[in-house]
Amino acid sequence: MSAAIIDGKAYAAGLRGRIAGAVAGLAGQGVRPGLAVVLVGEDPASQIYVSNKARQTVETGMASFEHILPASTSEIELLRLVRRLNEDPSVDGILVQLPLPKHIDAQRVLEAIDPAKDVDGFHPINAGRLMTGVGGLVSCTPLGCLLLVRSVRPDLAGLNAVVLGRSNIVGKPMAQLLLAQSCTVTVAHSRTRDLPEICRRADILVAAVGRPEMVRGDWIKPGATVIDVGINRVPNPAAGEGKTKVVGDVAFQEAAAVAGAITPVPGGVGPMTIACLLRNTLEAACLRRGLPVPAVDAAA
Ligand code: NDP
Repeated sequence: MSAAIIDGKAYAAGLRGRIAGAVAGLAGQGVRPGLAVVLVGEDPASQIYVSNKARQTVETGMASFEHILPASTSEIELLRLVRRLNEDPSVDGILVQLPLPKHIDAQRVLEAIDPAKDVDGFHPINAGRLMTGVGGLVSCTPLGCLLLVRSVRPDLAGLNAVVLGRSNIVGKPMAQLLLAQSCTVTVAHSRTRDLPEICRRADILVAAVGRPEMVRGDWIKPGATVIDVGINRVPNPAAGEGKTKVVGDVAFQEAAAVAGAITPVPGGVGPMTIACLLRNTLEAACLRRGLPVPAVDAAA
């Protein structure tokens, strides 16, 4: 292996520490940022995410408001809660955990969130602000990816970046963030031709396709920075009958032999998502009060 491993777990811990410092500073001004997380239904994975978010929110000194609603909750009831949270001055960030039950129109709910409190960055106003380069809250996972890229390559201007995947929550905002860094950006997807060839041109390769180990070592340009967003659960017979493990969208060992730097799965992008959610809550809390936003991104 020749690549440097980008340790997302360590970066996220450092980021959370800087956020906690900034939150302590705000306490002196009588401000305590608050994050409300709304979960509808009993999806076990979502329950784990929500409890992790709540724990880490409290650990950084912010207020955490959990709203756990039964799967039978109607869209109208959920919209009513979102409106209440929009008006609640102690709430700076609102996150509605996805997926929502099928009888609820997720887009309608996301668009009901006050864009100033939209710490997931999914509201069309924030997506539009990202596209037009006028600030706004940015989706947590792509933001975390960018911070990891910049931790090993601070200046991205002029580099070729390839983003695999064009979802609204990862691929598209990722492409916009890299464009804003003056990369030359290619967005690839399931209809893209000659995918390996396109990837081989990438100085920065971000894989967000949800296909286990699809990106092979010979798709990687020597020295490239590879960010693996994928979280794929696959059988792991070596660990025993019926056991599984989590792998990314990149064949890690092969890619690490060629890349300059690479994120592992787990321990790469995953831990950055919640850290960036807390970062966005801090930012929203400051912007809503007209306070300067503390610089927490760059490692000290
Ligand atoms: P989506 O399923 O919404 O999007 C996947 C994208 O990959 C689509 O644009 C699709 O193309 C493209 N794609 C699928 N198959 C291929 C293929 N064979 N070749 C080229 N492109 C392909 O997924 P998400 O963006 O939500 O998530 C992507 C991955 O990232 C998943 O593994 C997910 O679990 C993970 N993830 C991880 C997070 C974290 O915190 N680390 C957070 C969010 C997601 P098309 O548009 O043409 O269908």
